[in-house]
Amino acid sequence: MPESVLAQAAAEMLDWRGTGVGVMEMSHRGSAFMSIRDQAEQDFRDLLQVPPNFRVLFMQGGGLGENAIVPLNLCGGAAAQAQGGPVADFVITGGWSQKSAQEASKFCRSHVAANNTPDQHRHIPPAEGWALSRDAAYVHLCSNETVHGVEFHDLPDLASLGSAAPLVVDCSSHIGSRPMPWSRVGVAFAGAQKNLGPAGLTVVVVREDLLDRAQPICPSAFQYRNVADNQSMYNTPPTFAIYMAGLVFQWMKQQGGVSAMDQQASAKAALLYDCIDRSGLYENRVDPACRSRMNVPFHLKEPALNEAFLAQAQERGLLQLKGHKSVGGMRASLYNAMPLSGVQALVEHLRDFERTRA
Ligand code: PMP
Repeated sequence: MPESVLAQAAAEMLDWRGTGVGVMEMSHRGSAFMSIRDQAEQDFRDLLQVPPNFRVLFMQGGGLGENAIVPLNLCGGAAAQAQGGPVADFVITGGWSQKSAQEASKFCRSHVAANNTPDQHRHIPPAEGWALSRDAAYVHLCSNETVHGVEFHDLPDLASLGSAAPLVVDCSSHIGSRPMPWSRVGVAFAGAQKNLGPAGLTVVVVREDLLDRAQPICPSAFQYRNVADNQSMYNTPPTFAIYMAGLVFQWMKQQGGVSAMDQQASAKAALLYDCIDRSGLYENRVDPACRSRMNVPFHLKEPALNEAFLAQAQERGLLQLKGHKSVGGMRASLYNAMPLSGVQALVEHLRDFERTRA
């Protein structure tokens, strides 16, 4: 979270702008909270240039929740008539898309159209080779694999690949760090807790023509049509998380919007990858063509030094660098709120640690 956002939330905690109540104490249907919600949606739309034919939904359930909510919403209607039941295509580029395919298989047939598991999630299989189904209800990909550090720098144009299915994008861990090519997207979803705000809020952006494809078993509170028609108030929304995300959106605008975030993401990532690539001690194993700008996994070539590396990092105030248990090594997350100075401090630690070990 940007520090200024936390300070503002603290200052407004007991009394939001003279109303005499804090945001957590407001009725979600009262005019004060409605104005917070409306402003948050407008700022999000402005920042990401969301076209008018897309609805912005503030939901709950996180990225993993959407793995079930998406097939529940997109596999009814005509898709359900497919021989053998509805099918969805999955492009597996890391642990999160793998989880999406598994979860969806409870609600439809999951077809793996491409899979980089054999090369340990280090490359993105070229789109021209994806085995897309003829009648898929949707095609799912994770545009930034948070654990494996693999990022799509461009989204595929499914129509040019011969698929008429809508593209579903899990952009949880890099939303707001670059523009979104909406003409290629049917649904984009993101848990807020990386670039947008605190945990508890899931932002879902749905093209309007996809709102009425739900399976009959879809829970009402998770049905996109219900959520859209009720301005995300079908049930009580995560009000405080929406308020906090709204403050983050205003902070992003003050910083220069998504284009500024985009430039900073490139600058921060280049600094760190350059340091890793030049060193004899560290390595990043992901194909440079699809390295993530948000999550940089790296390994020490001498794993016996891992604990010392982490301990000395902690002494410098550099925290949460241990890699995900499925990958090992280290991982640096460079989300929007991480300033360039934070990455400079990390690079300094990498160099100092290598020098003293040489
Ligand atoms: N997708 C991606 C890309 C993620 O990074 C995460 C969380 N790290 C998830 C899904 C799961 O999100 P949640 O914990 O909000 O369900």
